[in-house]
Amino acid sequence: MDSVSYILSNNESRKALIIDPGTESDTRLTEYLDDNRLDLKFIFLTHEHFDHILGVNFLRERFPDVLVVSSPETSDRLANPKKNLAIFHNQMNLVVETADILINEGRINMIDLEFEIFSTPGHTDSSLSLKINDSFFSGDFLLQGSRIVTNLPTGSKKNYQESIEKYNIMLQGITIYPGHGETYTFGINKR
Ligand SMILES: [Zn+2]
Repeated sequence: MDSVSYILSNNESRKALIIDPGTESDTRLTEYLDDNRLDLKFIFLTHEHFDHILGVNFLRERFPDVLVVSSPETSDRLANPKKNLAIFHNQMNLVVETADILINEGRINMIDLEFEIFSTPGHTDSSLSLKINDSFFSGDFLLQGSRIVTNLPTGSKKNYQESIEKYNIMLQGITIYPGHGETYTFGINKR
């Protein structure tokens, strides 16, 4: 898939978190974890679309204790190939079991680090973004240069504009790690 997965690790505790494992049986992720002697503890899903969750089953098999974190709406849709849109992609029958930790907003400790979670509806009503220090992992809420897709189920241009307005000031100068494409700095070449 052309989606981007991120591995975040705590170099002291050797614990790791993967954001949006969007490729099936992605051995690049497991090789990176192995090579760096990292223990995968969490998978964070920004939303339920198949190109962000395709690797979850493989990682759950490989790391039975891993905890999947998502919004309740995302969790509800993971096992439904119509709602995760896999059925519309090569008729794929993708079924992912529900998440282990449900969260909408607020702080969460993962891999012994404090993260902030923001509800960022627009691309879908379920979309979450994850922030630590000056890094913002946006899923499909923010993508550099491209128009955000808001015409998929539960997407809303109005929600998207409200999310942008709500977080606009906080995001200025922050590094965006989007679900597709290159990392960029918010506020540059924008508006
Ligand atoms: Zn998406």
